[in-house]
Amino acid sequence: MAANTITQAIYEQVLKRNPGEVEFHQAVKEVLDCLGPVLEKHPEYVEAKILERLVEPERQLIFRVPWQDDKGNIHVNRGFRIEFNSALGPYKGGIRFHPTVYLGIIKFLGFEQVLKNSLTGLTMGGGKGGADFDPKGKTDAEVMRFCQSFMNELFRHIGPDTDIPAGDIGVGGREIGFMFGQYKRLCNEFTGVFTGKGLEWGGLLVRNEATGYGLVYIMDEALKASGKSTESMTVSISGAGNVAIYATEKVQQLGGKVVTLSDSNGFIYDPDGVNLDTVKQIKEVERKRIKEYVSIHKNAKYTEGCHGIWDVKCDIALPCATQNELDEATAKTLARNGCIAVGEGANMPCTPEAVGVFHENKVLFIPGKAANAGGVAVSGLEMAQNSQRISWTFEKTDAELKNIMVTIYKNTSQAAEVYGYPGNFVAGANIAGFIKVANAMLAQGLV
Ligand code: NDP
Repeated sequence: MAANTITQAIYEQVLKRNPGEVEFHQAVKEVLDCLGPVLEKHPEYVEAKILERLVEPERQLIFRVPWQDDKGNIHVNRGFRIEFNSALGPYKGGIRFHPTVYLGIIKFLGFEQVLKNSLTGLTMGGGKGGADFDPKGKTDAEVMRFCQSFMNELFRHIGPDTDIPAGDIGVGGREIGFMFGQYKRLCNEFTGVFTGKGLEWGGLLVRNEATGYGLVYIMDEALKASGKSTESMTVSISGAGNVAIYATEKVQQLGGKVVTLSDSNGFIYDPDGVNLDTVKQIKEVERKRIKEYVSIHKNAKYTEGCHGIWDVKCDIALPCATQNELDEATAKTLARNGCIAVGEGANMPCTPEAVGVFHENKVLFIPGKAANAGGVAVSGLEMAQNSQRISWTFEKTDAELKNIMVTIYKNTSQAAEVYGYPGNFVAGANIAGFIKVANAMLAQGLV
């Protein structure tokens, strides 16, 4: 049977089995669409039904999370953990707290995580979790009660050699602290069951910075291949959370100028270059909205709504907020305005049509699986550090992060070349990530 007939049949089965889960469909389709040449070269993957197994999570957990707000009112949220694939190691992937969370989002993130973790070269399987809980506007005590209730169910499914969660949208150091504390209490053990922990209790220097720094490292490496660099580039970034803030920091350290940031209400444009101390104060310390920025920096402008952010002229665009935030029309605007490179800090922020526009216009495009793998890579280093009960220096971890990102760039670009997609990092990342997982699944038999 022709390879594309096989992948089409698998995709139809995914649609049938997972109705309404549009983000999961989108993530699976993108991968299947690249794998034809791989299946032709490796009939053993077809025979062992590796792809059919890959798109079906090993385990899916859905649970009730009841909690009480400060006034004593009771709320019920829904919690998820998708343990997607453990061929390369224990399940590893973040937890997202956001009102839009449902099974399709967690499955898409878990599926992407399997291939992303493979690309890091570390021994980590893939998983993802979350809840349709909105931490915005909640007090610390409310967030703590929610996290404890969430962990009252999740603790029995995770462990330092089984499944190691981390942060994602809406889950930062505060939430990880509360969840880790409850896990420790329930299990009576102090282990590296979470990554992204506080520095005093097993965390690793650079974890906070890792995803944003890694994004800029891989982009800089890709630019170098065509004789360019981040220095003197004007960069548009969306989001104002963990990934966006540390991508901004690294761009600035490398001599680039970041002119935009956003949150779900709107975006700021600062022609002088974003002042990161102000942003950190607003977002990390005060937990306020990004529009506060313009009351301090008078040259900057705030626009309500997120869409217009990509109308701002830039050399490099780094979408770092959420899935499908950058569509076809926006991609055309970016290309028309002379944007030369796009790197996905968020997971799947560009729609498939937008990616098509970038490819047509020869805009260098690095997909999230490769571009934002720095976070989970440093999480892998945190796990190693926890097992050995040692602490690495900032410099050592940062150098290792950079090394991993450069290796991801090389492996991705090489896989694209070998399988007939030169310059296509989407295909390269999917193929390089897939082959390692497929070989491990073959070796481990029918499980
Ligand atoms: P944060 O919660 O720290 O920040 C998210 C930012 O994106 C906030 O500014 C938020 O605004 C904005 N945002 C969230 N949802 C939307 C939306 N629907 N529309 C517009 N803006 C939105 O999350 P992270 O920075 O950790 O994560 C950002 C992205 O990066 C996600 O896609 C995540 O999966 C991905 N990622 C994160 C990693 C990490 O290490 N943290 C690792 C790899 C990928 P608001 O405050 O208004 O909600």
